[in-house]
Amino acid sequence: TPPELIRNFCIIAHIDHGKSTLADRMLQITGVVSDRDMRAQYLDRMDIERERGITIKSQAVRMPWATAEGTFTLNMIDTPGHVDFTYEVSRSLAACEGAILLVDAAQGIEAQTLANLYLALENDLQIIPVLNKIDLPAADPEKYAKELAGLIGGKPEDVLRVSGKTGMGVEELLDHVVAQIPAPKGDPDAPTRAMIFDSVYDSYRGVITYVRMIDGSLNPRERIQMMSTRAVHELLEIGVSSPEPTPTKGLGVGEVGYLITGVKDVRQSKVGDTVTSAAKPSKAALPGYTDPKPMVFSGLYPIDGSDYPVLREALDKLKLSDASLNYEPETSVALGFGFRCGFLGLLHLEIVTERLEREFGLDLISTAPSVTYEVLTDDKKSFTVTNPSEFPSGTKIASVTEPMVKAAILAPKDYVGTIMELCQSRRGTLLGMEYLGEDRVEIRYSMPLGEIVFDFFDHLKSKTAGYASLDYEPSGDQEADLVKVDILLQGEPVDAFSAIVHRDKAYAYGVLMTERLKKLIPRQQFEVPIQAAIGARIIARESIRAMRKDVLAKCYGGDISRKRKLLEKQKEGKKRMKMVGRVEVPQEAFIAALSGD
Ligand code: GDP
Ligand code: MG
Repeated sequence: TPPELIRNFCIIAHIDHGKSTLADRMLQITGVVSDRDMRAQYLDRMDIERERGITIKSQAVRMPWATAEGTFTLNMIDTPGHVDFTYEVSRSLAACEGAILLVDAAQGIEAQTLANLYLALENDLQIIPVLNKIDLPAADPEKYAKELAGLIGGKPEDVLRVSGKTGMGVEELLDHVVAQIPAPKGDPDAPTRAMIFDSVYDSYRGVITYVRMIDGSLNPRERIQMMSTRAVHELLEIGVSSPEPTPTKGLGVGEVGYLITGVKDVRQSKVGDTVTSAAKPSKAALPGYTDPKPMVFSGLYPIDGSDYPVLREALDKLKLSDASLNYEPETSVALGFGFRCGFLGLLHLEIVTERLEREFGLDLISTAPSVTYEVLTDDKKSFTVTNPSEFPSGTKIASVTEPMVKAAILAPKDYVGTIMELCQSRRGTLLGMEYLGEDRVEIRYSMPLGEIVFDFFDHLKSKTAGYASLDYEPSGDQEADLVKVDILLQGEPVDAFSAIVHRDKAYAYGVLMTERLKKLIPRQQFEVPIQAAIGARIIARESIRAMRKDVLAKCYGGDISRKRKLLEKQKEGKKRMKMVGRVEVPQEAFIAALSGD
């Protein structure tokens, strides 16, 4: 296709505002997916995406669209909406000239609407504002068209109105895409440059690399070079997704497609890298992306210790398709052998854990999420700590810094007080507040990331009846009065429970954990003190009284099958006893204490 007839665009929106559903209608209306083959969220291919109804990987699809000026090739890139995957969104944006900014006509602007809009504007994209779900009885397009026009500058009448569900307005929207989004520019005669905006691992075909052509062209069987590593590969297949992979005779300026070289590891085909031709390489690479940095760390342990090799292999395999996943071996007194893993955020952690359990049949326990702390001791040694149990103790600490974020919370104005209270209790500093319409407020806070990873979002949602939305971005490190709280059983620290908390919150954490463990650890032949300590100073204490272990005593009489079950459970538990000093602790107790059950 000549560049004049190409339009590259993406759909950006807050989660659940209907990107994937709108994409479905476009696939259907342009005829690339027949009504018979259509299923909801067609482009969400992973099981986990389909079940949770969220998009994790971006997808590129090519669709024809006939207008009076000719038949255009539309390349649509569906993007994930969640904060953890912002780096996916920004990659997709760099491959487009325009974006459909989609807003739920019953909800209005939310935190990720703003975050994604800013990303799109940074990438100089043409924005088409669209209200979705106008079929809903609760939709208020008049109100939200004003809100949206106010946000991006323009007239409320220019905000399009569609329903991704019924298809209403979608044809008109595609006409607007053709009319408003600029055609891609590039030099067909210059040395080839293509930008890698995604690469995925497929167990049959190896790595599939998605590219956006900038200059020159790529042809089947050609030898290509990755500009960052100089590695040369032969193209085994080149094609476009429409939406099934379809080989083509090549890709020219402005086109979006995929390359297969037989490479097995996504790291060889790095997102943000520039592909050029080995015969006539380009001299200057395209501007790349910054690698996503892990923000949240957690220890992952197999519940059955003999699964450790399976876990290692599973992580190696996942890494093939998720370059943002980091891990290294770690051992814990309480949990045995496992891995310390680095994630982009909490949802990323959850999704990786779920994929490990589901795709590799593993049962896992994860330790409380932690962020990265920089610790400087009095004798001028510095440490980077991602695991609280490695926080130096016994030495004098000169300073500790923690990562901060700028958080933006959007909510109806009635919740302002509640939200501010919550943010203050999480050590937040108010940065500003703005009304986005009559009743919608954006509240901006500077907050420690460590406070956000600790169930902040759950609290925010439950305190605002689900109405608040949150987005945040890293904003550097800041010094804070942080201490490590250790939890000791009979004087022995239990590594998995060490936590780095603000000094003002140390006592509360100590009380919470000692009380929780007192309920979970069975009585032993001797009394067992449970203590919380900062260094050598004990800040909370409980104790488990000595008693002969007798699970049957709990059964008050007759039910024999229940007794048998308990005995079996106890036998099973025995196999998974962990020794902390002289204290015998069923692993389940650790797991329950960590998960807060
Ligand atoms: P995404 O997270 O932005 O990709 O959103 P989805 O496309 O997964 O949609 C989220 C939810 O909104 C789903 O339950 C959809 O069925 C529903 N939905 C999407 N578009 C419409 C629409 O136009 N009308 C109605 N009534 N529901 C919609
Ligand atoms: Mg989606």
